[in-house]
Amino acid sequence: MKKKVLALDIDDVLVPFGHHAAKYVSAVSGIKVGAHELYDGNTNGQTANGLCNKEFARLVRRYQLDDCSLEVEPIAGCVESLSDISEVFDIKLVTSRDPTISGQTMAWVENHLSMVDISEVHHVGNVHGPSGENNTKLGVCNAIGAAYLVDDQPKYYQQLKDSQIVPILFGEYAWNDEPALRSRDWFSDWASLTEFLLSN
Ligand SMILES: [Mg+2]
Repeated sequence: MKKKVLALDIDDVLVPFGHHAAKYVSAVSGIKVGAHELYDGNTNGQTANGLCNKEFARLVRRYQLDDCSLEVEPIAGCVESLSDISEVFDIKLVTSRDPTISGQTMAWVENHLSMVDISEVHHVGNVHGPSGENNTKLGVCNAIGAAYLVDDQPKYYQQLKDSQIVPILFGEYAWNDEPALRSRDWFSDWASLTEFLLSN
């Protein structure tokens, strides 16, 4: 029987990105930034402590291209869970990372998830990326026939809510701390997410 497609975000679902990126940007800029500020959107053009958003985006990209980001371990329980989940689902990664950093993404996946059966990796792009690619996760998830998308970002949850694809919110983060969203399909860790997926 053909497996259902499970689309998985990468940053803050498979790898603790926000925390490490914010730490790196704080260190190289000398201006303290919080992980949630990566996702706050452009309010007044700068972070709370005064780092210009354009410079913030540049330093986040520098982190993404820095080999130190390849060493970051997957989120707890992720690898073991994915091995079980891959028995039942066809796993495809769908990230909003820019296509120009796909080499780094693939290197991290090979470093840390080589024992997991992942059939495809898609770079959707985002407004900050140099490639100009900025597709929607909904479009990509439709194209790959996803049954579910697991993502930490409420905006992607919202994109999918009227589609046939089931959005699942993942992680206990400041940027997804919305009671209305967490009252639906939300899982704080890989153990509870895996239990849900394997029972559906
Ligand atoms: Mg993410």
